[in-house]
Amino acid sequence: MEPFIRSEQYNFIKLQTQILINGHATANDRDVINTLKTVSKERVLQLFSDLNEDQKQLLDPVDTIKDPAQAENFLLQIKPYVIPFKEITEKTIKKLFPKAKKLKAPSLETVDLREISYLGWDDHGSGRKFIIAPHHDTFTGLHGTIKPANKKGICAICSRFEEIGMFMSETKGKVQGTFIKKGNYICLDSMKCNQNITTLEKMTDLIERLK
Ligand SMILES: [Zn+2]
Repeated sequence: MEPFIRSEQYNFIKLQTQILINGHATANDRDVINTLKTVSKERVLQLFSDLNEDQKQLLDPVDTIKDPAQAENFLLQIKPYVIPFKEITEKTIKKLFPKAKKLKAPSLETVDLREISYLGWDDHGSGRKFIIAPHHDTFTGLHGTIKPANKKGICAICSRFEEIGMFMSETKGKVQGTFIKKGNYICLDSMKCNQNITTLEKMTDLIERLK
């Protein structure tokens, strides 16, 4: 079976296992538990539009999860079927950020490519953040300055309450040669952000606002 689960879908499934564990720990009403099981399973299966029999069988046991050990075991079973983030070559980086000279891609050796939906890294010399995200079956690049907000807030990519920074990027204005600055609060720590993402909706919104 080929990998078919996207990283953010894996995070969503993980979240459902957490909801099930919490439910079993707090509810003692059988009906409540049964509803919770049904809803969780439905949510997981609805992530995918056309599951084949093998894929369905893999995901089916999600509603049997009661405790952290079972969740861990289940997540280990499905992890190999998560689609890893594509390797980014120097050539892709040059194409996405033609004006950034000598920009180095971050080392991905220590990164589990199944755990990222987008690649985000800071270029400390210039105080800029670079983001490579999938968009319309290809990659798109976003870049801008990043300034820590020194407080927690809602991230425009993962929607969680995290340590954020103001990501200020320039987009081309309607009049040729003009630029408009647009600011968005996003997680300072892109790896943490990736772990939080359970839908790509916000990322897509951000890309469309900034492109
Ligand atoms: Zn975030």
